[in-house]
Amino acid sequence: MSTFIVALLVVAVVLAITLLWKNREDFSEGSLEPEPEDTRVPPLLRGINYLLSDKPDQALQEMVQVAKIRSESAEVYMALGEMFRSQGEYGRAVRIHQNILARPEIAADLHFQAYVSLGQDFQAGGLLDRALKHYAKALAIRPEHLPSLYACLRIREQSHEWDEAEWLVSRLEQIENTSYHEHRAYLKAEMAKSALEHGELALCESLSLEGLKLSANCTHAHLLRIILLIRETKYDDALAQATLFLQQVKMEHHALLPETMMANDTFYQEHGETFLFEAWKQRHDVEVGVRWVENLAKIYGIETAKILKDKLALKDLSLRHELRLAALDEVDTNLVKQAKYWRLSMKLFACKHCGVQVHDVRWHCPKCNRWGSMEPMQSSQVFEEEQHVQ
Ligand SMILES: [Zn+2]
Repeated sequence: MSTFIVALLVVAVVLAITLLWKNREDFSEGSLEPEPEDTRVPPLLRGINYLLSDKPDQALQEMVQVAKIRSESAEVYMALGEMFRSQGEYGRAVRIHQNILARPEIAADLHFQAYVSLGQDFQAGGLLDRALKHYAKALAIRPEHLPSLYACLRIREQSHEWDEAEWLVSRLEQIENTSYHEHRAYLKAEMAKSALEHGELALCESLSLEGLKLSANCTHAHLLRIILLIRETKYDDALAQATLFLQQVKMEHHALLPETMMANDTFYQEHGETFLFEAWKQRHDVEVGVRWVENLAKIYGIETAKILKDKLALKDLSLRHELRLAALDEVDTNLVKQAKYWRLSMKLFACKHCGVQVHDVRWHCPKCNRWGSMEPMQSSQVFEEEQHVQ
């Protein structure tokens, strides 16, 4: 029996107990007159029969009838809505929650919950504008409702609406009385990235500096600033920023530097390559070396990458790193073919908090919504674990 059916059965039992309790109350109030035929029971019994016959759709139809008949069963009705949403039946969940709002006799608290639930229904169904509208109605009733504020923040960040996201983060800082500095730094970096893409260099400069002021550890703000300074041919400043990057950013993110130093041929050949070699000599970080070779192969071709690989004298590589390097080769061997195939499907980064794996670095975790939590996956891990983006 599926969990869905078990959940339905639980609702059925709760409803049955509610009805029996209500009948007991009626009896205790001295009503000895035979009760009129209870029109509520047949649909409930039919619902349970359908459940036992493994027919959840028909069972739900009957249960909804039961919930409609009794005004005090709004909580049960809400639970049905949650179940519809959890099964991906967003349209039905929306109808149920809208029905609750249409009933004037229900308590104000359930009214509020129905707005939150409608926000969740529309968010789960991908109708983000309508979700925001319903969360706004819930927040108009309870301005400090954290789940609604978190949900709105997630939507704004998914939609790249950084100003609105920043406003929500400020609200959360006020309500929770905690610092969201790192989070705000990454939002500033996203705004700086957008400015850079639109050629607004001065705006990118001020936003990336604001990001670094909020958090000196913000990897994205560092990298954007290096790219900006290279673009402005302020090479000495770019190198100074790269030095700060190595000092202030967590070591797991150092592997992201080589690609950034290749933003421009002249810079890389005259300064970037030497800088990376000096950094390499300090720590011989294999992930930095392999990623450097990979990026060089992508931009300058496999022959140039092979020269670098020999120069770095990469040794004691894990199977995962060996496969990544083999996938770059152009030799027509079975191993290279298999490595190329593996490389296409493998994921390189994982969130250190929730473990979700993604192909390329992202600053925002799509699962737990943390910023800057993605790191290169453990070098010993060749095969992916069962972790997927929701
Ligand atoms: Zn995560």
